[in-house]
Amino acid sequence: MATRAKRSTRRRNLLMAFGPGALAGRPEGWIFVVCCCLGVALISISDIRYASHGSVGALAFIPVILAGWLLSRVQTAVVTLVTMALRMAPMAAASIPVVTGVTQGLTVPVLAVLAQLAAEFVLLANSSEMRLERARAEGDRIAALEQAKSDFLRLASHELRGPLGVVRGYASMLEDGTLGELPDEANAIMPIVSSKVKAMGMMVDLMMETARLDDERLQLRKEPTDLGELVRECAGEMRSVAGPTHPIVVEAAPEPIVATADRSRIATIVNNLIDNAIKYSPAGGRVSCRVNPSDGGAIIAVSDQGIGIPKEDQGRLFARFSRVHTEDAPEIPGTGLGLYVSRELARLHGGDIRVESAAGRGSTFLVELPVRN
Ligand code: ADP
Repeated sequence: MATRAKRSTRRRNLLMAFGPGALAGRPEGWIFVVCCCLGVALISISDIRYASHGSVGALAFIPVILAGWLLSRVQTAVVTLVTMALRMAPMAAASIPVVTGVTQGLTVPVLAVLAQLAAEFVLLANSSEMRLERARAEGDRIAALEQAKSDFLRLASHELRGPLGVVRGYASMLEDGTLGELPDEANAIMPIVSSKVKAMGMMVDLMMETARLDDERLQLRKEPTDLGELVRECAGEMRSVAGPTHPIVVEAAPEPIVATADRSRIATIVNNLIDNAIKYSPAGGRVSCRVNPSDGGAIIAVSDQGIGIPKEDQGRLFARFSRVHTEDAPEIPGTGLGLYVSRELARLHGGDIRVESAAGRGSTFLVELPVRN
């Protein structure tokens, strides 16, 4: 009997260590202990997962602590009420200790579940924060890359402009005979030199315009401009680039269409479009330019009989550095800046550019411009 009493006291002491309310040696005490162990295990799992994701969001556990306090209040009230009720029914009085144990014991797992939820919330907050951080870093990287591209364009175009001007000057002096008679072989290659110098000049101008657009430094110098006359001039200039392989024809309305526009910028647009029409057409492909009035404005259309552009690629043509490569067309060198700059210039005038094309069936680029703005 003495040994039994001692064992019971030891068990009671041991169980008391798990918290007030544990009734050692009786079923409700065991229920409490099992619930306790379950709760402690759940909390530990939450803690481990939480700890492995850093300590941000510890505030999420405040509701758990508050819920614990609230639960202890509710638990006391429930136990008191149930005990009172059961005492009134002498037959059910025997179940009082079980109800007490269950109520007390359930506190811990409920808290554990809340702790688990809090931990999950913290994990979610942490991972969203990490994702946001990663997206921010990626955004900064892309912005730095764009800035580096702009800096390069600005620097390279400035450095190239000076020497190119000198080459252009000497080439024209050689061509017009200012530097004396040229041998026949030199005379034969001069048109090629001039067209390459012109093409390089266009590329450097595009780089400079892109850098100006990036820095929002581009200022239009508007003046009354006869669009028909301007397009004829551009076609004349571009004939030297095209050579005899691509006939360029102009059809303009007989009456002048005068727009308030930056003459040199509209020329840049038209030259780019004619240049592309030549570049992306096989030899013999005709390039036609039309100038017509439209509702409150004018439309300049440049058409070719070239490789065309698949519908699915047309949406990205006007993006900076965007190029389209189709498997059936040979890779044609370019910067991917011409259409970007052209559209930005058209938009600065209050107009726009759109394309009508299909793979293998030529393209038409339409520049819409308001006549007075
Ligand atoms: P680039 O010609 O230097 O590549 P652009 O901005 O002028 O740059 O043109 C972007 C892309 O649009 C080109 O790479 C080409 O694939 C396509 N493109 C432009 N004009 C034409 C055209 N007339 N016919 C077919 N494709 C064209």
